[in-house]
Amino acid sequence: MELVQQAPLQCFNTLALPAQASYFYRVASLSDLIEAVAWASDHDLPLMILGGGSNVVLADDWPGLTIQIALRGRRIVSDNTEQVLVEAAAGENWHELVQWTLAEGLCGLENLTLIPGTVGAAPIQNIGAYGVELADRLVSVRGWSLDDQCERELSAAACRLAYRDSIFKHELRDRFVITVVTLGLSRSDRPVIHYPALRDALAKRGVPPETATAVAVEAAVRAVRQSKLPDPTVLANAGSFFKNPIVSRAQFERLQNDSPTIPGYPAGDQVKLAAAWLVDQAGWKGKRRGGVGVHTLQALVLVHFGGADGRTLLALAAAIQRDVWARFGVQLELEPRVYPQAVEMHATSAPTSGSEALPPDAIIDR
Ligand code: FAD
Ligand code: NAP
Repeated sequence: MELVQQAPLQCFNTLALPAQASYFYRVASLSDLIEAVAWASDHDLPLMILGGGSNVVLADDWPGLTIQIALRGRRIVSDNTEQVLVEAAAGENWHELVQWTLAEGLCGLENLTLIPGTVGAAPIQNIGAYGVELADRLVSVRGWSLDDQCERELSAAACRLAYRDSIFKHELRDRFVITVVTLGLSRSDRPVIHYPALRDALAKRGVPPETATAVAVEAAVRAVRQSKLPDPTVLANAGSFFKNPIVSRAQFERLQNDSPTIPGYPAGDQVKLAAAWLVDQAGWKGKRRGGVGVHTLQALVLVHFGGADGRTLLALAAAIQRDVWARFGVQLELEPRVYPQAVEMHATSAPTSGSEALPPDAIIDR
């Protein structure tokens, strides 16, 4: 097992935050993974599982083993008129998988094009965009259970996928390493086109939504994303930094009384708010603080211009949380996972209603 010691992780996270892992290991097979997990356990070291690093905030050095998932392989496992099952290893690049399925004449992933990161991370937060989420396509995941040291398969239902959420953020947090994901796709071209921004994009490209193909939807989504979102290889970021808050109807009505233009979308019997709108209204869009800031086109995306660290970024996030709380009484929750977790607990405000958020200057506590 070739471990790298004191490994710099700046190239392994799309926010380009400087941090080191005490040990780093690139896992290319199940046996590599089993060996690495056992080694960390023998040495009593915490594990950090990393895919593409596009949904993490590295706030400090990692005092344990970082495992980069590099398991590769994808194939069609069954093909019939109802459903085509596609299996992909956790280390496959998500966007490349989307492109490959379309090239194979398979529909279902087109709305999820250009989402950075790996296949294995997709179930963790139930990735979603433009009206489709992984939950709509996931059949099962296979992985290594750290509790009982064996391979297990979980059905999509057992993954408990919800809005940017899954069992892997709760009961199975740090307990299960996903190695293979199975998706149910289709050869009939019936793309999902109800998302308003997607319909507009299709219309702008002269494609009547009713006749849009999966390939046309992919192209439209890709074009909108490229026009709005910073490419992390050009301007470091982790996509949306905050989740869209879900509030009760009663709270939404109160918010509407004060802010009649506030956007809200049905979410079961609750209402989903647009976090970007709240951040923008709180005056943060386009603001810069040292080496970090809020993107000029998309207020939900915090960016790293260079030279800053994870704690500075979390201080900015905490200041935004405080202002949104003060203005709307709504608690913004971080979407990316912060490592080490202890820094997150100190640096950002806890989502408890009725309490004041932490002042941004009092948040860094080594
Ligand atoms: P990482 O950042 O490496 O890891 C994220 C978490 O998953 C970590 O806690 C990690 O431990 C865990 N993890 C990773 N792999 C495994 C595994 N195999 N087994 C167990 N745990 C694992 N997200 C969306 O939902 N929709 C979007 O439209 C979207 N757009 C984005 C746009 C940009 C520009 C960026 C930078 C990010 C965007 N994201 C979006 C967020 C991100 O791309 C996704 O969450 C993606 O799935 C993260 O993949 P990753 O491999 O980079 O995960
Ligand atoms: P947008 O179209 O400007 O819309 C802003 C927000 O409103 C989105 O977050 C979206 O929620 C919500 N929304 C808009 N229309 C909706 C509808 N008809 N029904 C339900 N919710 C609606 O969003 P954007 O920032 O450009 O992003 C476009 C899509 O890409 C969104 O789906 C977004 O989630 C996804 N995206 C995600 C990330 C990430 O890192 N998580 C980064 C970039 C883009 P939803 O987020 O629930 O769709």
